[in-house]
Amino acid sequence: MVQKDPVRSIVSAHLDHLGIGEPINGDTIYNGAMDDASGVAAVLDIAHRIKNGPRPRRTILFAIFTAEEKGLLGSHYFAANPTVPKSAIVADLNFDMPLPLWPLKMVYLPGETESSLGADARAVGAEQGIQVVPDPNPDRNVFVRADQYSFVREGVPSLFMKFGFLKNTPEYQIEHDWRANRYHSPSDDLEQPGIFKEESVKLDVYTAAIALKVANADTRPTWLPDSIFGHKP
Ligand SMILES: [Zn+2]
Repeated sequence: MVQKDPVRSIVSAHLDHLGIGEPINGDTIYNGAMDDASGVAAVLDIAHRIKNGPRPRRTILFAIFTAEEKGLLGSHYFAANPTVPKSAIVADLNFDMPLPLWPLKMVYLPGETESSLGADARAVGAEQGIQVVPDPNPDRNVFVRADQYSFVREGVPSLFMKFGFLKNTPEYQIEHDWRANRYHSPSDDLEQPGIFKEESVKLDVYTAAIALKVANADTRPTWLPDSIFGHKP
């Protein structure tokens, strides 16, 4: 009998949003189209792509968490009490508002400088013509503020998948304005202008290739020696 491969990596996003809240311009429904229905769509698309491609060496688990907006509760519970042996989880690639607000030429990937997943992401980027750039707003510290951090706390190297942009560019202003005007408000809905759906698919293709690279590798991802996240608690 062939032994089932252990889970090696996770691709994730969160399902919940804010629900019904204070009206803004008469609208009380907080739809969460970008935050984080877009991430859930990415996870489903990546699962579909991988299922239809060559079978990876090891299992990839697709996880969609609840209660992110209440403080990463769903992912925290799952990472602490996974449905598979905890030691079998070796990576998380997480989507939370990838924000496809311009053509995908670059990505920034919080966590990329912390583990060997960064080298994987840069290698796949080189193949696909996608540049990995530094976090343009490192002061936001987003690596510890989305669901991937639940896995980081359990010792699992992780990446946070984001459309990339640089300071002092039109994209920087677009991202700033989106956060100022639509983030956590009812207007984060399907009618909002400026969403590049086809470009969003490119981030799915890119992330699927990273997931496959990890699933087919001989060794599990490791923290870089100088990463503060690599130390056992
Ligand atoms: Zn949110």
